[in-house]
Amino acid sequence: MNAAAQFLDVSQVFGDFTAVDGIDLAISSGKLTTLLGPSGCGKTTSLRMLAGYTRPTSGRILIDGADATALPPEKRDLGMVFQSYALFPHMTVADNVGYGLKLRRIPARERAARVAQCLELVGLAHLADRRPRALSGGQQQRVALARAIAIRPRLLLLDEPLSNLDARLRVQMRAEIRRIQSETGLTVVLVTHDQDEALEMSDEMVLMRAGRIMQQGAPSEVFNRPANRFVADFLGYENFIETTDGFVTVRPEHLSLELGVSDPARGLALPGVVTDVAYRGVDLLVTVAARDAQGDVVLRADMRADGLAPLAPGDAVTVTAATTRLVPLSD
Ligand code: ATP
Repeated sequence: MNAAAQFLDVSQVFGDFTAVDGIDLAISSGKLTTLLGPSGCGKTTSLRMLAGYTRPTSGRILIDGADATALPPEKRDLGMVFQSYALFPHMTVADNVGYGLKLRRIPARERAARVAQCLELVGLAHLADRRPRALSGGQQQRVALARAIAIRPRLLLLDEPLSNLDARLRVQMRAEIRRIQSETGLTVVLVTHDQDEALEMSDEMVLMRAGRIMQQGAPSEVFNRPANRFVADFLGYENFIETTDGFVTVRPEHLSLELGVSDPARGLALPGVVTDVAYRGVDLLVTVAARDAQGDVVLRADMRADGLAPLAPGDAVTVTAATTRLVPLSD
């Protein structure tokens, strides 16, 4: 793999608290990699070390194969977009986008051409002369992106760039960022705590917990084969079951319920009693108090509302799942 950046056994310790705990990570060139995980797991600290704002307590960071551990941010050739867009309020959109080029003493003509090209890329060419305060949140976000891209960075780092946008715009911008990434071929590292965002946007997903990497891989790999209970839980698996063949998880939509007690020869079949039926329009979320190989377990089955025998609390059921839907977990 062609790595644009690498973390080699990198730790960050604040006082007696270890925020990042010896991570090894390679960021693929020309791909979009997300750092995903719950609040406080060390995503932002990792990104800040990559950007050069924080020096690792130990370990090394390579950019394009060269040791960058001690390199200051301005020598790393990186573009950054934060949650707050940090635009210059007194400058026009075009001047904001051209700011980094001016610092780098790019001649005016080339600067103007690159600014126009970047504004085109983010769909804001018609607003070049506006000031940031006369733009919507989504438009400001695009200006920040154009400004970060204008310098033709070796890496584009995005820290929760969509979290200040409303839900609809957020979903729209996911696709926009992907389009911009594939059109420019930039290497992008994006920090998010939103699993849907990560699944939808990433080429590569890195799931972190308490300063460590729990799993890394393509979204479909991680989603279909979570390495452990933490990853499964974070990605929306709800049912954790001890079987005679080991510990497994299965998604609510892959459980079926049969009225009465039956004992199918194949797959999972656990006896249980319905405790709750929640109507959700197209589907029903049915909660069952069941028994697995170890004891009592609460299971949730997501059923299509149509064509289903009416279920009510108190009904005895058998919870079944095809063997192919059972995902084995290490812990
Ligand atoms: P969030 O999504 O909430 O931003 P995160 O995964 O990005 O979370 P970090 O910002 O990397 O988490 O922080 C990891 C841990 O390190 C947190 O517990 C945080 O309080 C702590 N931390 C971060 N920066 C410092 C600092 N300068 N001094 C002390 N502790 C810090």
